Amino acid sequence: MTTESDPATWFGETVRPGERVITSLRLSESYSGADVSIPLFVWRGRRDGPTVCVTAAVHGDEINGTGAIRHLIREQPFELTRGTLVLAPVVNILGFERHTRYTPDRRDMNRSFPGAREGSLTSRMTWLFFKQVIERCEYGIDLHTAAVRRTNFPNVRADMTDEKLAPFARAFGAELIVSCQGPKGSLRASACAAGCAMLILEAGEVWKVEPGVVEYAARGITNCLRSLGMVKGKPVEPAYRIETDTTKWVRASNGGFLEFHIAPGDIVRKGEPIATNTDLTGEEQNILRSPRDGVVLGMTTIPSVAPGDPVCHLAFPRKGALKKIGLAVDELRSDSLHERMRGDLASNIMVTSPDDEAS
Ligand SMILES: [Zn+2]
Repeated sequence: MTTESDPATWFGETVRPGERVITSLRLSESYSGADVSIPLFVWRGRRDGPTVCVTAAVHGDEINGTGAIRHLIREQPFELTRGTLVLAPVVNILGFERHTRYTPDRRDMNRSFPGAREGSLTSRMTWLFFKQVIERCEYGIDLHTAAVRRTNFPNVRADMTDEKLAPFARAFGAELIVSCQGPKGSLRASACAAGCAMLILEAGEVWKVEPGVVEYAARGITNCLRSLGMVKGKPVEPAYRIETDTTKWVRASNGGFLEFHIAPGDIVRKGEPIATNTDLTGEEQNILRSPRDGVVLGMTTIPSVAPGDPVCHLAFPRKGALKKIGLAVDELRSDSLHERMRGDLASNIMVTSPDDEAS
């Protein structure tokens, strides 16, 4: 018997074992009264198993994840042996249409879950998506990028105290895992509270589909599906793994123009120069230094800063772990994904050695 929760029926479409269906979910109406729908790809394995969703562009300008999901839909780089995979390339379709993070009623969709049937425009859309997709999933992966004018080395964020979520998040195979609960109203926090163990990936920049990020996200999603037995094979292990709940933004102390000395994914030692703050003629004002041993999680892409502007986001591993991480990175081949990613993310940022301490 088919019931509402039967994974064989999605948005009125019947999906039989082994089938893949492109369907859509009507979320709202436009100002001119036209239907506002999002496309969804539902892939059912031949055998029963967990239901997993992968979502992107909940922030409408963060389209690296859209690129990753499109890659999975077009290339289908694995065979789904069991369970159901639901792919949503763009959740915040109204923000996406305007190249913006927000919805037209100036709300942040990722602070508006699980939503309300009789709420605001945003709240009604999140409510529908949550009811129709998230509440039917046991696991979820939500793909994000850094906010505008910043970039992130790929990192997973997940509540690692959650026993169901922690092994799923580790399976993704990211070198960097930041353990934290999502903010109130985020898709991740709301999904976890409703029994859908969800992690997020933060990788790259807004308004771009970056090849390394697409590869990293696709590999991580495949790894997670492997860990649930939905795809054959074992998850690929990362070169190293930092699980931390301690991160810090190093902020500019002066207004001025930055000369960067580090790039996303780099290892930094306590006291090491991160950036030299200069005036517009290049006269040095001060050097920003790392407060502790850490790894560069993210950084600004705009070199002109005002006092207090965020410059570099650092993740701090446990004491003494950095040496081992450095050795693991030294052994990586230059064509490994980790090293290509470091090169790609830094490629449009001018990185120089500090004047007085060439390294
Ligand atoms: Zn985001």
